[in-house]
Formats: sequence, C-alpha cells, structure tokens
Amino acid sequence: MTQAGPTPPATFLGLPTAAPPSAPRGVGMLRGDEPFPAAARRALGDAQLRRNLGKATTTIRGRRASVVAELDDWERLRAAGAAIKDDVLAHLDDYLVRLEQQVTARGGVVHWARDAHEANQIVVDLVRATGADEVVKVKSMVTQEIGLNEALADVGVAAWETDLAELIVQLGHDRPSHIVVPAIHRNRAEIRDIFVREMGTTGGVPAPAGLTDEPRALAEAARRHLRQRFLSARVAISGANFAVAETGTLAVVESEGNGRMCLTLPDTLITVMGLEKIVPTWRDLEVFLQLLPRSATGERMNPYTSMWTGVTPGDGPRAFHLVLLDNGRTATLADPAGRAALRCIRCAACLNVCPVYERTGGHAYGSVYPGPIGAVLSPQLTGVTDNPSLPYASTLCGACLDACPVAIDIPSMLVHLRAKVVDADRGAGHRPTAEQAVMTTAAWTMAKPRRWARTLRAARLGRLLGRRRGTISRLPPPLAAWTASRDLPLPPSESFRDRWSRRQASAGGPDGSGGHDPQDGPDGPDGPDGPDELDGPDGRTPR
Ligand code: SF4
Repeated sequence: MTQAGPTPPATFLGLPTAAPPSAPRGVGMLRGDEPFPAAARRALGDAQLRRNLGKATTTIRGRRASVVAELDDWERLRAAGAAIKDDVLAHLDDYLVRLEQQVTARGGVVHWARDAHEANQIVVDLVRATGADEVVKVKSMVTQEIGLNEALADVGVAAWETDLAELIVQLGHDRPSHIVVPAIHRNRAEIRDIFVREMGTTGGVPAPAGLTDEPRALAEAARRHLRQRFLSARVAISGANFAVAETGTLAVVESEGNGRMCLTLPDTLITVMGLEKIVPTWRDLEVFLQLLPRSATGERMNPYTSMWTGVTPGDGPRAFHLVLLDNGRTATLADPAGRAALRCIRCAACLNVCPVYERTGGHAYGSVYPGPIGAVLSPQLTGVTDNPSLPYASTLCGACLDACPVAIDIPSMLVHLRAKVVDADRGAGHRPTAEQAVMTTAAWTMAKPRRWARTLRAARLGRLLGRRRGTISRLPPPLAAWTASRDLPLPPSESFRDRWSRRQASAGGPDGSGGHDPQDGPDGPDGPDGPDELDGPDGRTPR
C-alpha cells in the first residue's frame, strides 16, 4: 500500500508565491539616507516648508471633496476600481503576456526588467542606439524610482524634465516631494528665483528679464524654455498611468499638454512602466479616468489624456519601446496582506489628507514614494529591513483609507508591516529595544489581576512628578522616549477598580457579602495559575 503524500491545494489562485531571493527586490531611489524620525525632525524645523505644504494640501483637499461630492456613485466607483485592480493582480501573468502580444502586434517592442539596474541598462542602450545625446521626459515617477536621469548622465545623455513641477525640481537640483505635485514644497517666489538663476545655465532658453512670481508669467517662462527642448529632442521617455491589455494601448493623463508634445514629436518613444499598471479593457479604463482626476487634482476630468497603441506610419514616433519593470513588485504581490498596495493609481489623495505628510513633506520619507502609500509601498518593494522606519511614519488615523479611490487599507497594512519589522529585528538577534522591554513588562503585569491592581496603585506615585504642571513632562529611561515629544496625563488619584471596590463595600455588595472584587479574576484572587509571585516577568516560573 502506498502512502499518500501531502494533499495538494485544491485551487491555484494564480498569485505568485515567490519570495526573496527568487523574486527581485527593489533597488534605485527607494531608500533614504537616514531614518524617518531624524529626517522628519529636521523638516519640522522649516516653518516655510510647513506653510507651503499646509496651503497646498488644504487647497487640493477642498477641491477633491467638492468634485467627489458631485457623484452619487462614488463609493461604487471606488469598489469597482478596487475589484478591477484585484483581478489584474490575481491574473497578472496572463494580462502581462496579453499586453506584450498586443504591443508587439502593433509595431512596439516590449522589454522586461527585473530591477532598476536592468531597466536603466535597457533604456541607456536604446537611447545610445539612436545616437541622441539628450532626451525629453514626462510622467517620470517610475523613472525617478529607478534613477534613470543619473544613469543617462553617466553615459553623457542629458534628460530634460518637461512636466512643469518636475522642471522646477530639476532646475532647483532638488528631489520631488509629492506624487502629483512634485514641487509642492516650493512657493511662487522660490520658483521665480530658481527660473532666473538656472534656466540659462543648461543651454536652454533663459528666463525673461524682470520675471515676476505671477503664475501666468512663470508658466510662460517655462513654456518658452521647454518649447526649444521639444523641438530639438529625437527621443522621449515617459511613464504611463495605465496600459490596456486588450489592445496594447498606453495612457498618460496630465494637465499641461507637455506630455502630448513629448509623446508625439520625437522619433523614438520609450515608456517605462511598473508591471501593475495594467487594466484589462477599455471599459475598465473608464472607471479609472473618473477616479483619478477627482482624487488627484480635484478635476472632473484631466485636461489632457494621451493614448497610443504601437506605432502608426506617418503619425507620431516611428519606434516605440515599452519597458515593464518589476523592481520588487512580484515580491510585494507574494504577500496577501500587503499586495493591495499595488492597486495604487498614484493619485496622492492619501498624501493630501495625511497629518504626518502635511507637516513633514515628502523628502523625510527618503523614497521617491512619500506619504501613506510610500510608507507601505517602499518597504515592500525593498523589503522591510531596508526601510524599517517607514511603517511607523503614520498616526494610523485612517484618513488615507477614506480618501483612497481604490480603497487600499493603508492603516491595516502599516500594522502588518510593523509586525514584520519587529519579527525581522527579532530574527536578526538584536537586543530588545526599550519598547519591547516595556511591552514585555506590561504583558507580565497585566497577566494577573492582583499584580495589575498593585501596579495601578503604585502608579499613583507618578502624581508627585507632575504636581506643579498637572501633567508629567519628563520620565526616566526607557520611558523618556514617550515624554520627549508629548506630556503624560497624571494618573488618577483612584483607579476604577479601587473606586468600584469601595462603592461595593460601602453598599454591602449585591448579595450582602461585600461583592466580587474586580481585582480578582473569575478564578479567584490569583487566577487559575496560582500565586503570581512565583512567575518571572518573562511569564515562566523561575527555577
Ligand atoms: S494609495 Fe490610494 S490615495 Fe494613495 S496615491 Fe495610491 S491610489 Fe491614491
């Protein structure tokens, strides 16, 4: 008689189970130079930054709220968006192959990149093959992720950003700080100074004499500067908001029209796209073309929606290349509790409502993906050990979940990632942190009712520490970290348990016996395990 082996799973869901090292981890601009708390502390000291951010996010929040309120079926649209993205993630292997077939059938060339290094090499080789020494770029979040500008500069190719906000960031030798409004940390006066100082230094059209900080004047200066770039570039590099698998169509939505110039004028177009950006059909695209502009900029529709399918003789670029980027996405997909982060359509609504982002801005997150989505996406792309502080960059208030047009439960994901950080730390054999020591002691204290009651009574001594101010503003280590950034309320003069016991005793108890002492568990004064004095703080009986 043969022995039966382990029963195979009844249903294959089509989701990858690959985990590192078999699935590539994200490299590129996904890690900061310092942990979030240190970077955030410095950002909080910049009053101008906080004013700029507060003004901009308040304006966008207001606009979004009013256009969302116009739609009776907003919640159904959100549910549809989430369901479409979940279907894409569950069958990503099928949809990617379908997309490749359609793009190829229409004259495009598809390239697959495991990580940022491979993607950069592919693009560098393609640009060099054209003989060009400059490229124009649009919608370049994913190219920021892989550090493409730096890779092109290394081989002598200049990359010109053409989105107005990204132009400001590039001319200011700065980094983007917002997904939709990369220069949100700059005000008009700062932008004017950057234009005056930098526009003429890179061989481009300089800023006009007497440039003011009026938005119209700044836009006109940028237009004149960029027009020359558009007309001279032979190669364009873009990102993509969506790719329609059924026809191989790519879509870019934007507000300025610069994207359309980029996508149509040069001879060669190279699009770099994260492999999760697929939608199955044009009907699915319709859902996202309603969700995205309302969530991103508070508009009913995007002023410019550009779509292209392969190449068309006599119309637009003569060569089209699509680079499909993994860079940690497959590894993210392998985690059932974290994969919903790949639903993200980069609208930045979660940034605009986040109380942490509003005060620190995007640079503090280190990664090109800031705010709540960055706090869950970056650690998953890189692995939590490379970004251990980001899952803590949140108050868990839930505003991001309410605002997200594809209903990503960011707060739950943050908690999940925090657990992974703790597990990774424990697995690495690090000494327990002060927080872990406090939690272990708290667990031991709360394990027995009498022990807990005695601790509460002892805590009353803490009232002595805050006699004068009414709050406790400084505690000794390891509790000092708590009072470093907030005051602690004074412990009450009498705990609920003590008050309850006193009232029951004075009332004689419901049965005249003096009542049940709430300090005793249901199993008597010491619980089912006997006297607590025998147990050590690690929950084991000392020998
Ligand atoms: S997580 Fe949601 S709200 Fe945040 S950028 Fe992505 S789609 Fe927008």
